Amino acid sequence: MKRPVNVTSRRTFLKQAGAAALTSSVLTAPSVAFSEAAAQTGSRDRGTPVQNRAPLAPNAFYTLPLGTVLPAGWLKEQLEIQAHGLGGHLDETWADVGPNSGWLGGTGESWERGPYFLDGLVPLAYLLDDSRLKAKAQKYIDWTLNNQSANGMMGPAGNDDWWPRIVMLKVLTQYQEATGDPRVIPFMERYYAFQYSQLPQRPLRDWGKFRWQDEALCVLWLYNRNGDPKLLDLVRLLHQQGFDWQANFADFQYTSMVTAEFIKLNQGGGLSDLALATHGVNNGQALKASPVWSLVSNSEKDRLGITHQLAMLDKYHGLPNGMFSCDEHLAGRNPSQGSELCTVVEMMYSLEQSLAILGDPALGDRLERIAYNALPGTFTDDMWAHQYNQQPNQVEVSLHRKPWTTDGPESNIYGLEPNFGCCTANLNQGWPKLAASLFMLSKDNGLVAAVYAPCEVKTIVRGVDVHVVEETEYPFRDTIRLTVNPAKPLAFPLRLRIPSWATDATVAVNGQLQPPPNAGSFARIDRTWKADDRVEIKLPMSPQISRWYNNSIAVERGPLVYSYGIGEGWLKWRDRGMTADWQVYPTSQWNYALRIDPNNVAASVRVTETPVAAGPFTRKGAPVKLEVTGKKLPGWFAEDGVANPVPPSPVKSAEPEEKVTLIPYGAAKLRITAFPALEE
Ligand SMILES: [Zn+2]
Repeated sequence: MKRPVNVTSRRTFLKQAGAAALTSSVLTAPSVAFSEAAAQTGSRDRGTPVQNRAPLAPNAFYTLPLGTVLPAGWLKEQLEIQAHGLGGHLDETWADVGPNSGWLGGTGESWERGPYFLDGLVPLAYLLDDSRLKAKAQKYIDWTLNNQSANGMMGPAGNDDWWPRIVMLKVLTQYQEATGDPRVIPFMERYYAFQYSQLPQRPLRDWGKFRWQDEALCVLWLYNRNGDPKLLDLVRLLHQQGFDWQANFADFQYTSMVTAEFIKLNQGGGLSDLALATHGVNNGQALKASPVWSLVSNSEKDRLGITHQLAMLDKYHGLPNGMFSCDEHLAGRNPSQGSELCTVVEMMYSLEQSLAILGDPALGDRLERIAYNALPGTFTDDMWAHQYNQQPNQVEVSLHRKPWTTDGPESNIYGLEPNFGCCTANLNQGWPKLAASLFMLSKDNGLVAAVYAPCEVKTIVRGVDVHVVEETEYPFRDTIRLTVNPAKPLAFPLRLRIPSWATDATVAVNGQLQPPPNAGSFARIDRTWKADDRVEIKLPMSPQISRWYNNSIAVERGPLVYSYGIGEGWLKWRDRGMTADWQVYPTSQWNYALRIDPNNVAASVRVTETPVAAGPFTRKGAPVKLEVTGKKLPGWFAEDGVANPVPPSPVKSAEPEEKVTLIPYGAAKLRITAFPALEE
């Protein structure tokens, strides 16, 4: 099988990076004993966020320290599935993060894969309080912390690229919040002093240049803890050397599918600015660039940058699952194009951080749309296999070259490392970071229910311990119950995100209805909270349709997008250690056009709810089904395993009317999501 070109170019890049070995000697730093006692130091402070220090602009909200928001209900079960699947066992079956990893001092993979794996393993371990996973993560962290060079450099000596270190810094900030390990802050101080001295001669390049904002976030994290003004100079230098995403989107040039020819992939253009500016994962990470920089610049224009960025990506590349197309460069709006899993989890992380900085409820809506559709849709039910690219209209999962812009033929199979192994390592951060972001602290020291899922919060508000329990089967049901338990009566504002689709939302406190909240806002409740106060939020979910490529329609209800679940025939392609690679072939026809009255969608859709049990994002366990009417459209078919572009709506069909059952997008591994609409 022909190796996909982009893989070759990225592997060549890795080799080149490896060849530029560091010459500086690596000190065997004295191993600092990290004891439980050390972990307890300052534990009182760890229940509440460190807020922005002057002269930074304040965040609207602050994410709570890792371990303060704990998953419950279906979300906890989802994290357990991940821990029992590839996410919790990857190092046992994949050499790239195994015992010979460069991030354990070995001679193996020494670039981004070790840090990627940890970026999700650390929150997974601490949110599940899982000692097996904590011990796994600790090995890489201890090696990293104990092997810093005398000059401050960190990481495998065989590779001096700034980029993978950015990911390790993301890991260390989370780990420090969860444990209070006293080694982390001095380690980061030494590293940043070194990097600041080196950047003028050895500036950010390729991945690091296009992902500078992820490092800026970590530098600001440290600045808020130690107040060293040199760190702000470092952030300014990263911004200056980094790609100007805001200018890129102010005059957005990439309004159609980016092809391999356009970026000159075969002539070594894989790491050109053109290729990197149109690269999906870079664009997902870049959504946080303007919000992060706005903390330094204090500019309203910067604060609004993300809204414009999303609008441009949606207008030219938007897909109904909440993503933009990127397989792996921007690929237009055809729902047969794909989105890379790394982009899914990176876009989620950008939205979590941007929601915190800006307090814009629309970012929470978008985060839920991706987390509750695109994320589960790209994994097998047991999370032992994943795709590189997922498609909204995904009619076959098999080896084919079409329709990817620059990716290879394995891109949509479910497996260990389809196409390229970045997603294999990076997939871990999706669910755990969502769980950690459900509740936040507002800058006026109140609590914010930012995103909804079952959880428990143990935090400190205005110096008082506050315990909140969120009981809900959201996003499958519309009711969310909070029990607020301050250690003593305490006045603070509680903000509740009211999604833009929730036009008939209600909020009650201890059974008393509050003034009707506005959709697309944060409802604010100011009161003196007492033990066992109860808040009930109802977000009635009525079916709606949205319009996509060629005027196609997608059916939604609340944060869930619904798909026709095509019959699935799973075929094992090959064993891969503890897991396997799978192809999936359709066992039913899928070429439906739907008849839905746009003026009365609810009348065209029959909703059936069944109990929410384990595995709600599986076909077997799908707790909500929608029944609609449709007709087959004989002229719409697949070629080379790919659905032809959805025919322009409205369409006519002489075929008989049928009942068509839709299930949540995440449950349907073969699916149609963007449908032609039948003429009225
Ligand atoms: Zn990836």
